[in-house]
Amino acid sequence: MQIQNYIDGIFVKPKNERYLKNIDPSTGKAYGGIPDSSQEDVNNAIKAAKKAFPVWSNLTASERSTHLGRVASRIEERIDELASAESLDNGKPLKLARAVDIPRAADNFRFYASAILHENSEIHDMGINGFNYTTRRPIGVVACISPWNLPLYLFTWKIAPALAAGNTVVAKPSEITPATAYILSQILDEVNFPKGVLNIIHGTGLGVGEPLISHPEVPVISFTGGTKTGERINKIAASSFKKISLELGGKNPNIIFSDCDFDQMLKTTLQSSFANQGQICLCGSRILVERSIYNRFLKFFILKTKELRIGPPSDINTQIGAIVSSDHRDKILSCIQLAKDEGGIIECGGVSVNLGGENSGGYFVAPTIITGLDMNCRTNQEEIFGPVVTVMPFDSENEAIDLANNSQYGLASTIWTNDLKKAHRVANKIDTGIVWVNSWLVRDLRTPFGGAKNSGIGREGGFESLRFFTEPKNIYIDLK
Ligand code: NDP
Repeated sequence: MQIQNYIDGIFVKPKNERYLKNIDPSTGKAYGGIPDSSQEDVNNAIKAAKKAFPVWSNLTASERSTHLGRVASRIEERIDELASAESLDNGKPLKLARAVDIPRAADNFRFYASAILHENSEIHDMGINGFNYTTRRPIGVVACISPWNLPLYLFTWKIAPALAAGNTVVAKPSEITPATAYILSQILDEVNFPKGVLNIIHGTGLGVGEPLISHPEVPVISFTGGTKTGERINKIAASSFKKISLELGGKNPNIIFSDCDFDQMLKTTLQSSFANQGQICLCGSRILVERSIYNRFLKFFILKTKELRIGPPSDINTQIGAIVSSDHRDKILSCIQLAKDEGGIIECGGVSVNLGGENSGGYFVAPTIITGLDMNCRTNQEEIFGPVVTVMPFDSENEAIDLANNSQYGLASTIWTNDLKKAHRVANKIDTGIVWVNSWLVRDLRTPFGGAKNSGIGREGGFESLRFFTEPKNIYIDLK
């Protein structure tokens, strides 16, 4: 697959005609080229988006909704091809891409095609003196930058509301997983999406991402990625007062009380630990277990983890696919080494796995459980973003809360208990933007999504996104 940029409704090569290799992480072999775009391509895309803004922003909500709905339908029609491309590009099990990533990408377009029809504005009545009304207008050209772990899902999660609200967009997928963003540009073409409204530029963070967010004609940035990158983007954006939404890293606690439904908890904890090879920002990587069930939990958790099938992503029976890149595989392995150096006990996994045959060059890591560490060590404080969890005992509700909150991050948490009052009490005291009780990864697109502390700034999802992508204006009418 030789990927191209999509600017002003036309497929174009990068101006410098340079390409990066696109690697299949399950074999380690290159299978295509990605434009290594630069400032000139970014400038052209922003120019196209700016030109398209007056017409797109003045369409009725219903007209914009129709355009978004067509994209959703076409994603659904090409679901098998998109799922295969996502799995090949990212290394995730095909089954996961088919069941979660691609349907949710279609849902994102479908949801915002509908949400925009239900948006309303506020009036603040001042009686006989007068009244205020608030309008919300699209802002202009929006930069959308997304990571590699849920490529099309997270890409469309920001693009769909930005477009629905009437903005035009220049979007950059991760250079590591560009394939489904490229297919999305084909889909735009197929459904005659208005030219210049959504432009997709491929390339690196420094080559494309930074020129894009620094550009004076881009007043809004929606970014999902690592906390370090977010910090840099935040600094650049601050100097020109850009509106910014940052969805960043996490080190999520999974708190397990002894009164939980053990079987349900165990089944879900396997998923919340290792789904997508642990490369979901919402995975629970710090598992806190009430001491009275600690040994029982550890025994069964290790047993079930060892049974997880590591295999080629395209195999329908595979539960653990490939790590996204060799660099990331090496980072995960170095984190495991650090855990050992810090005195951690590797209860299972801890090694890379060679599947042999055509997958002998692939990047596979066995799901890893580590015990014996305290909460202040680097392993428990730094995001690993791989199939690696730590397990620690606690003795009281307050201790569990303190351990959970002992983190620079505050994205998501999971609480397992059948005590209703305890569930509410603990949920209220945990410093995370999202709390799941007796469940994990249940998503309702109407709810606010985002993190506290170093996990980000702002919330996306539901009407929060539409508010973020619009500028409110209050108008007062005097009746006296
Ligand atoms: P990165 O921060 O490395 O990259 C994210 C995106 O930003 C990529 O498209 C990257 O491009 C681009 N980028 C890198 N540097 C710059 C820059 N200086 N200016 C503008 N753009 C830049 O994150 P990863 O892709 O490694 O993703 C993993 C991280 O994402 C984890 O920390 C994870 O927790 C977080 N994440 C957060 C989520 C949330 O909702 N809170 C959801 C999913 C992931 P390129 O890759 O081409 O270099």
